[in-house]
This record gives sequence, structure tokens and C-alpha cells, in this order.
Amino acid sequence: MDFVQAKWFGPGRTVPIRVVVVHDMEAPEGPMTAENVAHWFSTMDASSKASAHVCVDNNSAVRCVADGDRAWHAPGANSDGLGIELAGYARQTREEWLDQYSKGVLEQAAQVVAGWCQKHNIPAVKLTAAELKAGKRGIVGHRDVSAAYGQTDHTDPGPNFPWDYFLSRVNALMGKPADPVQPDTRPSIPQGLRPNSASPSAKPLQRALKAAGFMNKSVAESDNYGPKTQESVGIFHRKYPQFAAKGSTWDVAIGPKGFAHLLTLAYGK
Ligand SMILES: [Zn+2]
Repeated sequence: MDFVQAKWFGPGRTVPIRVVVVHDMEAPEGPMTAENVAHWFSTMDASSKASAHVCVDNNSAVRCVADGDRAWHAPGANSDGLGIELAGYARQTREEWLDQYSKGVLEQAAQVVAGWCQKHNIPAVKLTAAELKAGKRGIVGHRDVSAAYGQTDHTDPGPNFPWDYFLSRVNALMGKPADPVQPDTRPSIPQGLRPNSASPSAKPLQRALKAAGFMNKSVAESDNYGPKTQESVGIFHRKYPQFAAKGSTWDVAIGPKGFAHLLTLAYGK
């Protein structure tokens, strides 16, 4: 995928990615639309200040912002979201979204989104604005972000976007049925887990951190409570400081109460 760095974005992230936001570009359907919008993002003056992670048209995808950075696409969801811009218009009918050109766009987008869902452990399900606001993981339209957080009035990708077709393509490309992955069974709370040491309990901790969205799914599991595990525990404590050592919101050691809460987040009651 070509990478044309957008001019306006937020370097780095402080919270894990949990949602994919689908936009349309409000730009003419053409074979170079993704390239053109990427170029526009790379040269945009300070009066607009917008970007997205990826732009797609009917025959290609262009990367504009790295996943590890925050694109400025949907205020309210920029810190924990990934944004993709599709060639087309919010006013399109369902038939227009499913014509030959737009099916090419949807296929390019589905490939990108399937990769994101797998990489970031995001279920390929459409969330409502209320579910988005409640912190669930999944896929939304910009219109849902507007409804959930009220920071913009954008309504893309419009009321007729064919979510059923799009999600079936994403799920097909992920090679699994439409339901989110079943989590592991809940392990018992391990004893004697310490940072920078080896323990057979490190793996259940890493699995729970992944299932609850605090650790990237692609990190290899090991018996070592190493830097990646510590970083993820730090992110967990940042969100739930009541379980961190007093005065240390980046505490990298997990205690029994914190571990119990993490297991509930990961596996339910
Ligand atoms: Zn948008």
C-alpha cells in the first residue's frame, strides 16, 4: 500500500485502538480518488486540519496516517479509533453503494478493515452510537460518532450504506463467521506474578490483557512478565487507577484485585 503522510494528525496513542470508523469522501467516483484525497490530506492548510488512516477507491488503498498515530477524522473517537475514507457520497442509495464501482470500493475497504480487526482484536460487528459510547469494540460510521459524542454534525457514510454487505465481506476476508470470537475460559487468579521475572502465570495474564483490549493480539505469549506485558498492565492501571499502587497510575505490577477485575473484563462474570 502506498503511504502518503497526511499533514495533520496526532503522533502516538495513549489508549488502545478499539473501533473502526467508516467515512465517505464526498468526492467523485474515479480510479484515482484515493490518491487525490491522500494528496489533499498531505497538503491541507491549517483551515481544515483533517486526515484519515487509509483512503480507498475502487482499485487501490492509500495509507495516510500510521495505525500507531491518531488521524483527525472523527472527534470523540480519534484517540481509540482508526478512520477509513471511501470514495462516494453520503447521499448514495443502497443500489448506488452496490454498483460496480462502489463494490470495488467496498472490497478495498473490507480488506483494510479485516486486517485491522485481526490485528487489533476488534470484532467485525456494527455498533450503535449507544454501544460506541458505552465503550464496546467494533465498527461504526462517522454518523454514529457524531451521534455518540456530539462534536461534529457529519452524517457519512449516509443512511443507505450497505452495512450487511460490507460486514459480510469483512468477515469473509477474516475467514470466520459473523459472531465475535469466543473468549478463553476464565483462569484462576495466579499467585506470585512479578514484573521482570518468569512465571507460568504470565501467559494467562497476557491472554486476559489481550481479551480485554489492553495488549495487542499480535504480541507473542511467553512465560516472561517482560516489557510488553508491563506496558499493557500500565495501560490497564491508567484506566483503572483504583487497582494501581497508590500514586502510580503506570504501575506495571498487577495485584490480586486488579487481576480479578481484568478477568471480569476479559471473560465476564
Ligand atoms: Zn467523515
